[in-house]
Amino acid sequence: MRAMQIIEWGKPLEAREYPDPEPKDEEVLLRVEAAGVCHSDVHIWDGFFDLGGGQQISLESRGVRLPFTMGHEIAGEVAGLGPQAAGVAVGDKVVAYPWIGCGECAVCRKGEELLCLNPRTLGTRRAGGYATHVIVPHGRYLLPNEGIPQGLAATYTCSGITALSALKKTRGHLGTDDHLVIIGAGGVGGSAVHIAPAAVSGKVIVADIDAQKRAQARQMGAVATIDNAAPDAVKQVMEATGGGAAAAIDFVGSPKTMEFGVNILRKGGKLVMVGLYGGAHPISTVLFPFKMMTIEGSYVGTLEDLQELLALARAGKVPPIPLETRPAAEASAALSDLKSGGKVRGRVVLHHQ
Ligand SMILES: [Zn+2]
Ligand SMILES: [Zn+2]
Repeated sequence: MRAMQIIEWGKPLEAREYPDPEPKDEEVLLRVEAAGVCHSDVHIWDGFFDLGGGQQISLESRGVRLPFTMGHEIAGEVAGLGPQAAGVAVGDKVVAYPWIGCGECAVCRKGEELLCLNPRTLGTRRAGGYATHVIVPHGRYLLPNEGIPQGLAATYTCSGITALSALKKTRGHLGTDDHLVIIGAGGVGGSAVHIAPAAVSGKVIVADIDAQKRAQARQMGAVATIDNAAPDAVKQVMEATGGGAAAAIDFVGSPKTMEFGVNILRKGGKLVMVGLYGGAHPISTVLFPFKMMTIEGSYVGTLEDLQELLALARAGKVPPIPLETRPAAEASAALSDLKSGGKVRGRVVLHHQ
């Protein structure tokens, strides 16, 4: 197999050749056909996540050792099975759910693997999809992508389910005449604008500081768009919604967007925090009881979310997002372009010739 690996944190990836991995026990070997390049890969490549206030989490402190193969958005063909592998057959075309827990602790046994403290996430803890082959711990993490192009299906395993999972958390707050404000219509927020009509009731308003993204959101069916950097942005939402949003999702996660998200909620409203921009924002303690508001965090999504999203896409209810396909050998260039911003239109998907 060939893998594009981090040899030194933040330095260009290098192609390395290894013997093809042998699947053991319940493991499944996939031949990778598409691997999405996610913005979080830029941070993994650097070797740390910035928590704001000068604090960082390093990948090394989480047990990640170099050389390391990134790539958590993986689609491919089943190429080999461990002796106890189940659920898939050699030749199946599948996407891999990457957010895998240890499989042994109490939350994993309850099926809540996202809450596991010892995750085995593909491409962030275990070797991922920037390679010709990858080992997946169990066949149940592999779902057929039939009817959906592989590259697109690969992006559903991260950005797609992140958007859907956040949208699902607002379902209980939205009736047909209520308003959902999506803050930040870039990568994941943009996916949420695409998925929202299929996933939630209510009318979608998009807040973004970029006029082009606001125009795209109107084309996608947003009933109104607002420049959240405008001095009267909150007032504009109050007018457009007739008294406040029933729910909002913050796909940016900066102190400013969180403040905006709290201020636009009506009584009983809910804000879902998704973006990882970072920083801190003080919130009045009395606003919680007075507004009876809820703030909930949402991180990626569950295996069920992925099943649901694939079903929605297969039914033609989710329009495809723009993709840019590049050869796997250009992984470093794709990461650099994402890091510098601007040069990438839509999601980048790597493929192996
Ligand atoms: Zn991702
Ligand atoms: Zn666990």
